[in-house]
Amino acid sequence: MPTRDYYEVLGVPRGTSESEIKRAYRQLARKHHPDVAEDKAHASEFFKEINEAYEVLSDPGKREQYDRFGTVGNGAGASGFGGFGDFGPFAGEGFGEIFDMFFGGGRTQSRQRGGPQRGSDLRYDLEITLEEAYTGVDREITFSHLAQCATCDGSGAAPGTKPQTCLQCGGTGQLRQVRSTPLGQFVTATTCSRCGGEGRITPDPCPTCHGRGRTEQERVLSVHIPAGVDGGSRIRIGGSGEAGVRGGPSGDLYVYLSVAEHELFKRDGLDLSLAMPISFSQAALGSEVSIPTLSDEPASLRVPAGTQTGTIFRVRGKGMPSVRGGGHGDLLVRVNVAVPRKLTKHQRELLEEFARAGGDQLEEEKSFFERVKDAFGVE
Ligand SMILES: [Zn+2]
Ligand SMILES: [Zn+2]
Repeated sequence: MPTRDYYEVLGVPRGTSESEIKRAYRQLARKHHPDVAEDKAHASEFFKEINEAYEVLSDPGKREQYDRFGTVGNGAGASGFGGFGDFGPFAGEGFGEIFDMFFGGGRTQSRQRGGPQRGSDLRYDLEITLEEAYTGVDREITFSHLAQCATCDGSGAAPGTKPQTCLQCGGTGQLRQVRSTPLGQFVTATTCSRCGGEGRITPDPCPTCHGRGRTEQERVLSVHIPAGVDGGSRIRIGGSGEAGVRGGPSGDLYVYLSVAEHELFKRDGLDLSLAMPISFSQAALGSEVSIPTLSDEPASLRVPAGTQTGTIFRVRGKGMPSVRGGGHGDLLVRVNVAVPRKLTKHQRELLEEFARAGGDQLEEEKSFFERVKDAFGVE
C-alpha cells in the first residue's frame, strides 16, 4: 500500500501545532471509526491511515524524522501496524484516545454488584411565571424518592442483625470457573445463585424495607431559582436524588425549568417585547405614555409627534436581568395606534372639522360598481 502524506491524511498543513494535529485526528477518527461509519470496508482502511499518520505526527521525534526524510524508517509508523487485525492501531497510544471519545472520558466500570452503588438522579419539572423569572424566587417542591431506610440505616438487615457475606461466592457476587483445555485456561464468570449477585445475604431482613435498604419517601425541598433564568435551564441539587445502595452516594436532583407564557410580555433572550396601544391623538400630537414593566414601577415612554402604528421603541434596561449578573436587557415597545370604536357627538364634530381642515373627502362618491348595484336593486 503506497503511503500517503501524513499531513494530507489528517488534513492539516505542515508545521501545524501538536494540538491541531490532535484535534484533526479526533475529528477524523470519530467520523471514520469502523463502528460508526457507513462504508465499513473503506472506513477500516482509512481508519488505519489516520492512526498511522497520527502515531507519527503526534510523536515529536518521529515527526521530525518524517519531516526531514519523508519516512520514519523501519521501526516506527507503518510497520508497527502490520501484525494486528483490523483494529491494530488501537493497541498503541491511540487506544485510550478512542476510549475517551466513545465512552465519555472513562472506561465503563463493570458494575460490582456487591459493592456500593450510587443512587439514581431524579428529574423534577417546574413551571414558574415570567415575573418569578424576573425577580428570582424560592420555591418549595415536594417529590417522592427512594431514601435510606430509617429502621435499618440502609443495611437491609433487621435491627440487631447484620447482613452476612455470601459464603458461596465469598462476597464477590460472581462464581468463576476455570477450565483447562489444550488451548489454555478459560475462565468463565457467572452470577452467584445464592445471593443473586449481591455478595451478601440478609437472613433476617428489615421489616420496613424488606431488606432493600431504601424506602419510598416524600421530601419537601426549597429550591432557589436565580433571577434571569429562562425556560429550558436546569438546576442541579447535588445529593438530593435517590439514596445510594450499600453506602454508595446519593444521586442528584435536577430541576428542569419552564416559564409560563405571559399575557403582555414576550421574551427573546434578555429582551422583552410588548404591544402597546396608543390613541390617534397621542400618536399625532406626541405624548408621554406610561408602560408596564416587570419591575415594580412602570416606565415612561416619550412618543414623538407623528408616530406611526407599528413603530418599535427601545426602553433600555427594562428587559430581563442576566442570570450571570451584569445588567438587564431592553424592553421593546411596539405601539399600535388604536382607532376609537365609539365617538361622542362632540368628538365627532371636532373630528369632522379636523377632516375638512385636512381636505379629506368624508362622503365618498359612489363607485361605478355601487351605482350599478343600486340600479338593479341588489342589496
Ligand atoms: Zn430497612
Ligand atoms: Zn453469593
